[in-house]
Amino acid sequence: MKQYQTVYHDKDSFRAVVSEWQSLPASAPALIHLFSDGADPADISAACGIIDELMPDAVYVGASASGCLYDGKVSAEKLVVSCMLFEKPDSFAQVCFFPVDSEDVSSFRLSVRETLQRITNVKAIEVIATIDTIPIRDVCKVIQEEVPEGIPVWGGGAFGDNQFRAFLFRKGSGFQSAGIMMTLIGGSDIHVHYAYVSGWKPLGYPLKVTRAEGYVLHELDGQPAYQIYQHYLRIPNDEHIFYNALEFPFAVQHGNRTLLRHAMSCDSQGALTMSTRIPEGSVLHVTYGDPETIMQDVMQCAQSIAEFKPEVISVFDCFGRKTFWGGTEATREITPFHQIAPTYGFCTAGELIRWENDMDHHNLTLIIAGMREGDAPEGTTAVVHQETANNESTMTLINRLVNFINTATAEVMEANATLSLMAITDQLTKLYNRGEIQRRITERIEEKKTSPDGVDATSLVMIDLDDFKHINDTYGHQEGDQVLMRISQLIHEATAKLNINAADGRWGGEEFMLMLPGVTQETAAGFAEEVRRAIEKLQFEKCGKVSASFGVAQAMPAEDADPLVVRADTALYKAKASGKNTVCQAKEE
Ligand code: GH3
Ligand code: MG
Ligand code: MG
Repeated sequence: MKQYQTVYHDKDSFRAVVSEWQSLPASAPALIHLFSDGADPADISAACGIIDELMPDAVYVGASASGCLYDGKVSAEKLVVSCMLFEKPDSFAQVCFFPVDSEDVSSFRLSVRETLQRITNVKAIEVIATIDTIPIRDVCKVIQEEVPEGIPVWGGGAFGDNQFRAFLFRKGSGFQSAGIMMTLIGGSDIHVHYAYVSGWKPLGYPLKVTRAEGYVLHELDGQPAYQIYQHYLRIPNDEHIFYNALEFPFAVQHGNRTLLRHAMSCDSQGALTMSTRIPEGSVLHVTYGDPETIMQDVMQCAQSIAEFKPEVISVFDCFGRKTFWGGTEATREITPFHQIAPTYGFCTAGELIRWENDMDHHNLTLIIAGMREGDAPEGTTAVVHQETANNESTMTLINRLVNFINTATAEVMEANATLSLMAITDQLTKLYNRGEIQRRITERIEEKKTSPDGVDATSLVMIDLDDFKHINDTYGHQEGDQVLMRISQLIHEATAKLNINAADGRWGGEEFMLMLPGVTQETAAGFAEEVRRAIEKLQFEKCGKVSASFGVAQAMPAEDADPLVVRADTALYKAKASGKNTVCQAKEE
C-alpha cells in the first residue's frame, strides 16, 4: 500500500492533486481520510465533492480534530487529506457509520453483527467516534464481543469543545454528531501491527476512590477528590483546571492494564467530573508526564513498529499530549514513526484500543497502527532515531525529583505500615493486642447483631493458662515468656486453619481471646477442645507440661459485645472452678 497527503487550500489546487491520485495505479478503491481542525464546513463539503467526482469508487472518512497530522508533523493545517492506495488484488476498505444516540447499545450491537457477517476477510478495524456523546464503555464492550477475536481495533475520538461539537462524516453521509465510524480494512494480504504509548508515570501515594457516581469522582481517601490537586499540586479550581490537571492525570488499574483518566471539570464541592467512569473502590495514582520518560516509551514503541516494516501508519494522538508538549512540539513523538512509513491521523479526544482481548477507552495515549500488504521486505530493520531534545538537563532534573518523591513516599508508606501493625500487635506473642481484638469483636458484633445464625454466627473463645504464676515463680520469668510465645504460636496456627477471617489476640498476661466468625458455639467448643489437647501435649524444656482452661460463648441475637465477653469470661471461670484444663460453654441467659 501507498499513501499520499495534501492540505486543502482551495478547490482548484485540491482538484489537481486528486486527479493525480486518481491516475496512480491501485488494485482497489482508495481509502481517504480527511481531518479538520476548524476547517470551514463548506471547504470540507467541497473536498468531499471533488473526491466523489474524480475518484467515484474511493471511500472516505473524516472527523473534527484538535490538530491534523501532516507530513509527519502535528500541523496547524485546517484540512488535511490522506489517500491510501492498495496494491494487492483483494485488499479493500469499507467505511460503516453506526449511529449511537442513546444509552441503549442493543441496535448498535445488531448492526455491528450484521455488518461483520456481510463483510468477510476483515483484518483490521479503525474506529473514529464522538466519544463524549455516546456510552463509550458499552460501545467498547459491544465491539469487544462482536468483533471476532484476533482482529485489531484501534482509533479515537473526534474532537469537540464548548464552541464546536465533535463531528464525523464519510462518503454518502452528512456530518454526524453521535456515533461511530468503523473503517473495515481487509484482504488476504493485509497485515497490521499496533501498539500504544502513554509514558505518564505514577507519582506519590496510592489513592482509594471512596465515593464516586457515574463520571463524578467525589472522594479520594475520604476527602474531596479535588483536594489532591489543591493540596499537593496547588492547582486552583478555576477555568484553567482542565488544562492544569491534564498534566497530572490519574492512573487507574484496570485488570492488568493501567489506564489514564483526566479531570474535565471540578465543582465547588471539590468533586471532579472525569473523562470516564471510575468505579468506587478503585485505586488511583496521580501521574506526571516527563518529556524524557515519555520519549523513551515512544522510541521503544517506534522500534517495535519499525521491526514490523509497515507501509502506512495510522496515528491517533491524544490532544492532551499536544497540550503537554506545547502545540507543534508534539511533533517530536510523531517523527520517529514517520521515519518508518508515511503517517496519517489526528489529535484525538480520547483513544480506543482493543488490547489483550479487551477494548478500552484511554486518555492521554498515543496509538500507532502499522499496516502493510504482503510479507515484510527482507533486510535489516532501520534503527529509529530521536531528534535531539533541547532541554535535556531540565528533564533529568524532573526525573530526579520525581524519583526523590516516589522513594520518600514509599519509605514513609512502609514506615506507616510498620507503625500501624505495631499499634495493633502484642510485642511478645505477635498476636493482636487487647485493643485490637476488642475492636474486632465489637466490629463483627455490630455488623452481625441482627442475624447471628449460620455464616453470620460469631463465637468467642477465652483462654487462660493454668497455674502460670507457678511457672514464673519456679522457673523464672523468661521461661514464662517462652511458654507464652510457644502457646500463642500454637493458638494462631490452629485458629488460622479453622477460619481465615478469625482473629486471635492477647487479652491479658496469660489470657487469650479468639473471635471466630461463622462458627457456632458447638463448633467453637470442639475447636477449643482440640487446642486444649494440643497445649497439653507440648513439652517445655524446664517446666515440662502446661495446661489451659477455656470459656466458649456464641453471640445471641441482638447481644452486644460486652455482655458476650462477660459470658465467655464466666464460662472460663467455671472451667477454672471445675478443676482447670477443661473447656466450658456459656449458657444463654
Ligand atoms: P490460674 O490457673 O487460676 O489462672 O492461675 P494463674 O497463676 O495462671 O493466674 P494468676 O492470675 O494468679 O497469675 C498470672 C501470672 O501471669 C501472673 C503474672 O506474673 C504472669 N504474667 C503476666 N504477664 C506475663 C508475661 O508477659 N510474662 C510472664 N513470664 N509472665 C506473665
Ligand atoms: Mg489469668
Ligand atoms: Mg492463669
